[in-house]
Amino acid sequence: LTPAPISLQDAQAAVKARCAPLESETVKTSEAAGRVLARDFVAPSSMPAFANSAMDGFALRAADSADASPATPAALRLIGESRAGRPFDGTLPAQGAIRISTGASMPDGADCVLRVENSVVSGDELRLEKALQAGNDVRPAGDDIAAGQTTIASGTPLGSGELALANALGAQELEVVRRPLVGLITTGDEVVPPGEPLQPGQIYDSNSAMLRALIDEHGGELQAVRPRVADSLQSVTEALEATLPDADVVVLCGGVSMGEHDHVKPALQTVGAQQVFWQVALRPGHPTWFGTHERADGRTQLIFGLPGNPVSAWVTFQLFVAPALRLLRGIEREPLRLNATYSGDELKKRAGFAQVLRCRLTGGGDELQAELTSENQRSHALSSLVGADALMFLPPETERLQNGERVATEALRQ
Ligand code: AMP
Ligand code: MG
Repeated sequence: LTPAPISLQDAQAAVKARCAPLESETVKTSEAAGRVLARDFVAPSSMPAFANSAMDGFALRAADSADASPATPAALRLIGESRAGRPFDGTLPAQGAIRISTGASMPDGADCVLRVENSVVSGDELRLEKALQAGNDVRPAGDDIAAGQTTIASGTPLGSGELALANALGAQELEVVRRPLVGLITTGDEVVPPGEPLQPGQIYDSNSAMLRALIDEHGGELQAVRPRVADSLQSVTEALEATLPDADVVVLCGGVSMGEHDHVKPALQTVGAQQVFWQVALRPGHPTWFGTHERADGRTQLIFGLPGNPVSAWVTFQLFVAPALRLLRGIEREPLRLNATYSGDELKKRAGFAQVLRCRLTGGGDELQAELTSENQRSHALSSLVGADALMFLPPETERLQNGERVATEALRQ
């Protein structure tokens, strides 16, 4: 007799409870894209570092323009220029003005900028027909960031915007969370790599490439791939023994069901892995195994035994491995959960297990719609993965879903 399968929620909670951010390391800012900040990034200086012009035009003293009107324009004398990277040397005298470019330093004495399109210049005379306020079109020093301010919080993934900020503040290195080392083992006597001729009953290996891509997409560092390991206790055990010494996470695929040729569970037992759960009240993904292994140095490794059906493997990776990688990488933010309107033919399912379907989200707000990627959502139907940008969740008690009903979804690949 096998115990009742664990619920999807409990299974996900059991994984999360065993995940904590890995230690940090220092990397060059130029190599930090996609990494997660391990320590608050504190601005070493304020930004902008000096007051500068927001526009191409003329820097002047607002007081000199106080009486300017179309009938009585103010006339100022142009005495120099401040260009980007080449500031004006000196103090602006009363009744003076200098040409200034966007981003160029405001000269001492000047307190506002007249836009080039609002000016009339003849020779070295600048005329303006309107009074300006002090501060007009000036970016004051420190108006974006104050020195000592936390500008990127620890736990933030470093994307283009964060990297721009770090570079603008002159950071050459950043402290980021170490990437999880992931070992991948796929099993199956029947799978052969593309490029080799297929013998009767053989199929091409889709899972190895799929899981490599998923590990990569989710910020894992592939430590080793042992593809197409033979369906024998000895082969799977050897693959595990070779993978375990270095990995933070081991992903096995296939051979985890109840068949006579499924050797993953006994192999895991042989190497001393501790089962946390096996079998989830979930379709696809029922045979999923999850557990831990104590490394010689005391570190706890996470082990995922995913079903071999490619769609089951893809879905269970998204449900269990991806959240684990996120937490190990230091990301606390959860993926976006969105309620959408189901658009499609009526779906029927049996009660008692959660069903996870592959869908595409279209529209937005109240009009957000979820459409299945393909009608065939069975666990071998790879067509259902093409173009999938979200998962759609049918809870265990649901027995049917009709066009127009609200449904819970989770966006992928953010
Ligand atoms: P298993 O979980 O090993 O019983 O495999 C379940 C189904 O997934 C079978 O139809 C296998 O042929 C298929 N399968 C297992 N591994 C792979 C793989 N690497 N690529 C494609 N299909 C696979
Ligand atoms: Mg198999």
